Amino acid sequence: MITEEDSIICPDCGHEQQITICPSVNVTTDPELREKVLSGEIFLFTCDECGCTGFAGHPFVYEDKETAGGFLIYLEPDCPDRVVGIDGDIADQVIYREKPMRLVADLNALKEKIFIFEADLDDRVMELFKMLTLTKLSSDNPDQVPDHLLFTKIQENEEGRQIVLAAFKENKYLGVLELPYSLYQTCVVTGGPIWDVPTVDCMAVDQEWIAERLKCCEEEEIEEEEKEEGCGESGHAEQ
Ligand SMILES: [Zn+2]
Repeated sequence: MITEEDSIICPDCGHEQQITICPSVNVTTDPELREKVLSGEIFLFTCDECGCTGFAGHPFVYEDKETAGGFLIYLEPDCPDRVVGIDGDIADQVIYREKPMRLVADLNALKEKIFIFEADLDDRVMELFKMLTLTKLSSDNPDQVPDHLLFTKIQENEEGRQIVLAAFKENKYLGVLELPYSLYQTCVVTGGPIWDVPTVDCMAVDQEWIAERLKCCEEEEIEEEEKEEGCGESGHAEQ
């Protein structure tokens, strides 16, 4: 486990102190760290002055080189960018040119990405799946609509294979949703052209990303239609 020194200000009493943080974990070499990341334990610190416990929000790299082909997630709290470069040895490794590298802003998002990639699912498809689920829910029951969904696991029961999502409204946990896995597969097919766009560097793939992709695809479709309609005259019009 790699560690670094960092100074932190207690959110309760304002006391500043030096703490030892863990800027990155590689669960392929240190598998016991996976649980410490998922529980949040790895980010905890205790204030020397008032004794309160809090989360140390520092940039953090989670690396898994084996599970489902390998993936890397970079957590940067309050990151203003949607795409970042990862410095150092990690970036030099050829493996991540073909594997997902993702940027997330908080611990819940980090955990969701871990669960998605470990289940061998595509997080881009999951964002479309969640978006369609939210749209469907709002038309069914507008009063009880979650505003945020997080993938938690895949389960098998008498109803078959299901995707389990945790539902939130204004950061309050509402409960779980169980949806047929077949709906996820439908998204793989219907989202077709979206998946052809390469994801480069370490980028944020979230609801904003899928909304942006859908908008681009729509615009491309309109352009295509306009081209077809204008066929025959366009040769002159463009000159
Ligand atoms: Zn304190």
